[in-house]
Amino acid sequence: MNSMDIQVIGVLGLPLIQQGDDLPALICERVAFQDGDILAVASSVYSKSKGFTRDLATITPGADAVRIAEKTKEDPRFVQAVLDSSADILLEYPFILSELPSGHIGVRAGVDHSNVEDGRIIILPPDPMGAAAEIRDSIRRITGKNVRVLITDTCGRSFRRGQTGIAIGWAGMTAINDYRGDTDLFGHVLEITEEAVVDEIAAFANFVMGESHQGVPAVVFRNCRTWTGHDTVYFTPEQDIIRAALKSKKD
Ligand code: GDP
Ligand code: MN
Ligand code: MN
Ligand code: MN
Repeated sequence: MNSMDIQVIGVLGLPLIQQGDDLPALICERVAFQDGDILAVASSVYSKSKGFTRDLATITPGADAVRIAEKTKEDPRFVQAVLDSSADILLEYPFILSELPSGHIGVRAGVDHSNVEDGRIIILPPDPMGAAAEIRDSIRRITGKNVRVLITDTCGRSFRRGQTGIAIGWAGMTAINDYRGDTDLFGHVLEITEEAVVDEIAAFANFVMGESHQGVPAVVFRNCRTWTGHDTVYFTPEQDIIRAALKSKKD
């Protein structure tokens, strides 16, 4: 093979997703899957399909939420939802940065009020790895095809302005392409490089999806190579020097 022809297919025509919708079935009606395809699904639509949304009117903010909301100038009910989604708070101001039970660290715990009705918020799927596995199994059941699945969310980064897509859950592939022990073009053995492939793919999927009214919450990548590696993407608290620095600043 002297070329690499990766195809990127945005899935058009999906409806506004409601709780109870069979998202994998709706996607399979619009894509002729092939073995090895990588399907990226926006966490927002997965959460809506499973009812991982909340009505702000039903939330009573506690003392911490009221205190933080005064600093961040946010709705204390929204802040309470962020606290409810969080396992640990790394930073309260200028924005809440928290760790979720899944290990993902994100601004406002990924709680989102875009692309949902007024007064409702979307929370991230509590088990994003399970979500990816479930979609993968459903697609295999519906189509007989063996696909790989990513659950994405749009996130800010440290050190740079602007948001990109990252993977919060995946199935059928490892998160990391482990290059350690591989040799470069000059025969040097790579000692450090572990490429976070799921985030790279999620970022391009996020580009295809857009952030506002585009209505494209699913993207298929065809003809991507396979890789081997591992799933250890989250630092332990002892390894994570940025987190330690933030927490020492917070208290
Ligand atoms: P997030 O990155 O997971 O928070 O998702 P976004 O809110 O940024 O939405 C990603 C893409 O999915 C955008 O193209 C949205 O317009 C689209 N989207 C969000 N919700 C729906 C929905 O219910 N139906 C459809 N068809 N598209 C949606
Ligand atoms: Mn959103
Ligand atoms: Mn989001
Ligand atoms: Mn987004």
